[in-house]
Amino acid sequence: MALIVQKYGGTSVADPDRIRACADNVAITKRHGNDVVVVVSAMGKATDNLISLADSVSDNQPGREMDMLLTTGERVTAALMTMALHDRGVDAISFTGSQVGIITDTEHRKAKIIEVKGDRVRKALGEGKVCVIAGFQGVSTAKEITTMGRGASDLTASAMAKALDAAACEIYTDVTGVFSADPRIIPQARKLQRINFDEMLEMAGAGSKVLALRSVEFARNHNVSLHVRSAFTWESGTWVTTEEPSMEDPIIRGVVTDTTEAKVTVLGVPDRPGISAALFEPLAGASVNVDMIVQNTSTDGTTDISFTMPMSDMKVAEDIVARVAEEIGAKGVTHDNDIAKVSLVGAGMKSSPGIAASMFRTLADEDVNIEMISTSTIRISVVVASADLERAARALHTAFGLDSGEGYAGPLPERR
Ligand code: ADP
Ligand code: ASP
Ligand code: MG
Repeated sequence: MALIVQKYGGTSVADPDRIRACADNVAITKRHGNDVVVVVSAMGKATDNLISLADSVSDNQPGREMDMLLTTGERVTAALMTMALHDRGVDAISFTGSQVGIITDTEHRKAKIIEVKGDRVRKALGEGKVCVIAGFQGVSTAKEITTMGRGASDLTASAMAKALDAAACEIYTDVTGVFSADPRIIPQARKLQRINFDEMLEMAGAGSKVLALRSVEFARNHNVSLHVRSAFTWESGTWVTTEEPSMEDPIIRGVVTDTTEAKVTVLGVPDRPGISAALFEPLAGASVNVDMIVQNTSTDGTTDISFTMPMSDMKVAEDIVARVAEEIGAKGVTHDNDIAKVSLVGAGMKSSPGIAASMFRTLADEDVNIEMISTSTIRISVVVASADLERAARALHTAFGLDSGEGYAGPLPERR
C-alpha cells in the first residue's frame, strides 16, 4: 500500500463546493488502496483577511499573537475537510501542526523546521484513517505556536512526505502545473512536464509563487519528488525532481515575475569601511530578507546604497533603517514600492554566454529601464518599474522562444 501526501492550496479549498471536490479526490485515492495524508491551506484569502484584521486592530503585532491568529485559517479547513471525508464514508482525523509534532525554532512567522515527529499520524494511518493536517504551522522548542512563512503549507507537505517516507507528494493548486511563466501574466506560457530542483529553486527564489521556496529547498535536501497539479481539472501536472537537465532542454526554462518587493535607498552615506555592515547586520538580525543591493560609486566621499526587500517586512525594516541612517550620518532614506523584479532562469545559462546581453537588449528595445541587476549561475534578475513589468516579461518570454503558440487553456480561478 502506497502512502500519498496531498496538499490543497487556498483557491482549491476556497468554498464548501471546493472542499467537497477535494474531499472526493482524497476519497478516490483512499479507495484505490492508498494511505493518504492531506495537508490543507486556509480557505481562499483567509490568511490575508486575518492579516488585515490585525492591521485594523493594532500597529504593533507581536509575532506570537500573529501566529496564534494566522494558524486558525488552516485549522478551519482541516476540520471542514475531515467532516467532508466522514460524509463520504472515509475515516479521517484532523491535526494541527503541533499535534503532529512539527517542531520548529522560535522565530515567529518565519519558523524553520527542526524535526517532524509524526507519531500521531503514523498511529492514525495504522488504524486506517486519512490524516488531515493544518498546513503552514508548527510548535516551537519553547512550546509556542509558530508559522513558517507565507505559502508554507507547501513546506508542511514536503516535510510530512519526508517524515513518512511517502511514495508521492502531490501539490494541488489552481493551475495545471509549473509553467514557463505565471500564466496569469503570460497566457502564452507553456506547461513544463518536469523541472529539476536547481531550476525550481531559482524560480521560487526569484519570486514564483507556484511553490514556496522553502518547500523546494526541503524537498531537494531530502530528495522528495513533488508533483504540482490542478485541483480543478485533476490532470497530470509537473514533476519537480532531481533529474539532471538533458541536452534537448531549452537554455532558458522560465521567466519569473515578482511584485512583492520594495526598494529602499539610503542617500548620502559616508563612503568608509563598516557602513554596509552597520546597515545590513541589524536587518539580518531582525530576519529581514534583503535581496538585491546596489552601491553607487562615491562622489564627494558619499554614496547611495539601494536594496530590495519584501514589502511585508517593511514595518520592521523602516525603523531599523531610519535609526542606522541617522547613526552613520546619511542624508536621508527613500522607499519605492512601485518596482518589480523580472528574472530569467535556466540551467543552460551556465554553458551559454551572452544571455545577459540578449536580455538587456530585449528590454532596451522595449524601452524598459533597468534599475538593478543580480545574477546567479542559472538566473539573471533585473528590477524595473512595476508599470513596465508585464511588457518586460512578455518580451523576454517571446525573445527566448518560450511562447507556446496557444494561450493557457487551464483554469485560472479568480483570486479571492
Ligand atoms: P496555492 O494557493 O495553491 O498554494 P498559489 O497562489 O500559492 O496557490 O500558487 C499558484 C499560483 O502561482 C498560480 O495561480 C499562478 O498565478 C502563480 N504562478 C507564478 N508563477 C507560476 C509558474 N511559473 N507556473 C505556474 N503558476 C505560477
Ligand atoms: N495560508 C498560508 C498563506 O496564505 C499558507 C499557505 O497557503 O500555504 O500564506
Ligand atoms: Mg502557495
